[in-house]
Amino acid sequence: MKLDITLFGALPFRRVSKTAKRQRRTHLKKTAPTVVTCPNCGATVAPHRACTKCGYYKGKEVIKVNKEEK
Ligand SMILES: [Zn+2]
Repeated sequence: MKLDITLFGALPFRRVSKTAKRQRRTHLKKTAPTVVTCPNCGATVAPHRACTKCGYYKGKEVIKVNKEEK
């Protein structure tokens, strides 16, 4: 009886060795998130986003931030 290859779908031709797997994964690493300093209040904020501490973006208050937490 001949095995029907369509039952299995796409499979790796051969096992990837530990070394090959680890060498491939040397390019996969976590990077620190990019942050900028808010020119209004000096807090560390995400770039191209309104400041979460003072609500300012491009020198204007664009969102209201609850300031009771100070
Ligand atoms: Zn700010």
